[in-house]
Amino acid sequence: EQDPAQMENHASRTEIRMAAERGEGVWTHFSRTLGFPMHYLALRVDRDGAPAGFVRVALPMSSVDRRVAAIQRLVWGISLLVGVVTLAVTYAVVARITRPLARLTSAAQRIAAGEYGHRVSVHRQDELGTLGDSFDRMSAELGQRVTQMHEDRELLATVFASMIEGVVAVDRAERILFANSAARALLEFPSGDIAGRPLWELVRHRAVEQAVRQAFAGDQLCLSEFEVAGSSRRIVALHAARLPGDPPPGVVLVLHDVTGLRRLENLRQEFVANVSHELKTPLSSIKAYAETLLEGALGDPKHNEAFVRQIAEQAERLNALIIDLLSLAQIESGQQAFEIVPVPVAELIARCVAQHGTAAAAKRIRLEAAACDAALRVLADAEGLGQILSNLVGNAIKYTPDAGCVTIRCAAEDLVAVIHVSDTGIGIAPADQARVFERFYRVDRARSRELGGTGLGLAIVKHLVQAFGGTVALDSALGRGSTFSVRLPRA
Ligand code: ADP
Repeated sequence: EQDPAQMENHASRTEIRMAAERGEGVWTHFSRTLGFPMHYLALRVDRDGAPAGFVRVALPMSSVDRRVAAIQRLVWGISLLVGVVTLAVTYAVVARITRPLARLTSAAQRIAAGEYGHRVSVHRQDELGTLGDSFDRMSAELGQRVTQMHEDRELLATVFASMIEGVVAVDRAERILFANSAARALLEFPSGDIAGRPLWELVRHRAVEQAVRQAFAGDQLCLSEFEVAGSSRRIVALHAARLPGDPPPGVVLVLHDVTGLRRLENLRQEFVANVSHELKTPLSSIKAYAETLLEGALGDPKHNEAFVRQIAEQAERLNALIIDLLSLAQIESGQQAFEIVPVPVAELIARCVAQHGTAAAAKRIRLEAAACDAALRVLADAEGLGQILSNLVGNAIKYTPDAGCVTIRCAAEDLVAVIHVSDTGIGIAPADQARVFERFYRVDRARSRELGGTGLGLAIVKHLVQAFGGTVALDSALGRGSTFSVRLPRA
């Protein structure tokens, strides 16, 4: 770019001096010739072992700077690429580890919230895969157990709800843990949630308190009985047992309604007392007459026959009583095999009228059967229906003063036939009407005895009619007569 003849000697340049010393010299300095910085390289040229000259080349610094900048950019670019790739790889690796962990965490949260049996399904061969599999197994097992627990709970709840016995469980502080519907009804608990309320607040009974205390104190079953004076008086038998554990966490009470049982027991006792009493009276008479006869009256022609007649009469009473008792017992026990067949009503009425003709005639009572459809049949046992009619007609004659009237009528309704036995007798007061069907109930005990009644006739009628699926009703007014109506299913 310049004329070498015009140029100064460049032997003093730093790179030339460095080349003179070491064979090579590199230096950057401002080129006075060109007027801008240059990068110089000088090489010493030797000939025959002695320096012969120098070769020097130069590049402008701007070109070097450009190359350096290009290299720097390349380095930065590669660094950036390596950084991005490293980040991406790190992210992928971290995600591979954290994703199943996040799934496990969310699954654990869902299970904790009640979604039992939820699965994470981590399909991997490493430790996380094993953890995921264990988690899935645990979750499935937990799900099964919780379902089983729910089912067991439902089963228990259904069993408790369908129990006739009442069940109440209380904790150590005698607060109610549980009460089934039977217990609620039996003890008349208020409706709504009663769990947590003290037992004494709902049942104020010493027997209950004592049973709970005893059950806590000892491990044997405590039994007692108490009366609930609620809307209806009820007798409740109570069993108390403590729950297993040391100390026992509570006590369970089982309650049975024994009102019906006790009532039956009372009825039975009453019945036995009645029967004994009924048997004792004729027996005492028989004994007294027999003793009197034995003590000498046998030879007394004035009285002996009357005494023997009395004995026969009382024996007949005893016989009637025992026959009635036996047939009542048989009907009630359900052991009597009735032959339920279509029975022609008119025929049976005619037979009954014929049977009681003599007794009615003796009292000048007009006993008549109103015209009855000969085709009318009822479903009953012929002998039983005969006894029903006979008892009703017998009573009608017994309790109707001389010259009265006893009528038997029958009528057909849709599904039933009704047989009415009416009399113009003494009638029955309203207060006694419901009770005359009870065993041994008599409005006038003395009069019934005198007439040879046992007090069982109407009880037998009621039980027979019920055994045939029918009903018996009474319509009566004191002093104006009575009508007994027997309704039986039509054949
Ligand atoms: P009894 O053997 O005493 O007649 P029942 O059971 O047949 O026993 O009758 C019970 C009571 O009902 C009788 O004692 C009587 O007081 C009353 N009774 C029954 N039938 C009639 C009737 N037709 N008229 C009035 N009272 C009657």
